[in-house]
Amino acid sequence: MLRDRGGMSPYYPRSRAINNGAGLGNSGFGASLTGRMRPPDQWGPWKTVECAVSASFIVILVDGVGIPPEGLLEPMRSASRFFRNVHPGAPSPIPFEGVGIPTRAHLDVPGLPQSATGHVSILTGSNAAKILGRHVPGFPTPSLKKLLAKWNLLSGAKGMGLKVSYVNAFRPLHPAILKRRLRGAMALAAEMAGQCLLGVRDIEGERALHHEFTNSELIKRGERLPLWTPRKAGRILANISREFHLVLYEYSLTDLAGHMQDLREAVAQLQRVEEFMEGVLEGLDPSSSHFLVCSDHGNLEDLSVKTHTRNPVPTLIWGPNAEEIAASIEGIEDIAPAVMAILEERAHPVRNPQKGGEAP
Ligand SMILES: [Zn+2]
Repeated sequence: MLRDRGGMSPYYPRSRAINNGAGLGNSGFGASLTGRMRPPDQWGPWKTVECAVSASFIVILVDGVGIPPEGLLEPMRSASRFFRNVHPGAPSPIPFEGVGIPTRAHLDVPGLPQSATGHVSILTGSNAAKILGRHVPGFPTPSLKKLLAKWNLLSGAKGMGLKVSYVNAFRPLHPAILKRRLRGAMALAAEMAGQCLLGVRDIEGERALHHEFTNSELIKRGERLPLWTPRKAGRILANISREFHLVLYEYSLTDLAGHMQDLREAVAQLQRVEEFMEGVLEGLDPSSSHFLVCSDHGNLEDLSVKTHTRNPVPTLIWGPNAEEIAASIEGIEDIAPAVMAILEERAHPVRNPQKGGEAP
């Protein structure tokens, strides 16, 4: 089982072995404790040429969506096609032949789970809150950056020769923000894996998505971009994934709607993110590729409080052996090992002597 291992990732030592013991912190993959960013005019797609892509793994982190004990209440229930089908206690079938499982997000630490420790746990396979002895909100602290620099999903997959991309795109940041190096865990993980953050021109080229994936926010700010439906944005993400073995994307407006305790906005966000997920599924080949949707903590599902909740979160999985993958995930810190197990097979396919070929 994957639980109760004193907070540390079971995957880190194995991946170090694959990298011939080269620590990612100084292995030449561009790892850094502080992250780095090119000037906006140099932002562009990040590419590798190590390994052909025959199947991809898309991971989307939808911030602040939990499963209440009694299930989603109306009208959120009616607005939902996917999350409504995940119930506390047991795996459930979900549309597009996927499986949904309730996943422990409180990391066995008292208090309300928070984003920095949640995201780092999802990305590293370590129980970051247990290691620090507390939940940490907002941006990763130096201790959390060290965990990310030691090993994360993107640097681990890249270390196996796989092509990876964090596809969230950012507007050019104010120099004061750049100086303070304020980055979310996923952006830091990408930079530590050697990827330069993507920008507005990458959205135009359909290589990246804004955190508000329809582009309406950017258009209001004067950017000349097409307005996409959530479904179109999802299809674009599926298209992007054809170039990479692993693609990561995060969506945080769901958490914001939970903090606002605004039922109309909560319903709109559920509909919007689930239509986006449908777009991804329509563009993906489920016979070879995987799609996993996870969350870091509860919030949106309980509008009676403006804080996060200790409710379990839904993890939704589509693709080959989805049930098997689901069975290996009990807490959010089990997600990275589950994804890496699939990616490892792709990086090191087992030769099948009977067929004389290589297993997928
Ligand atoms: Zn929050």
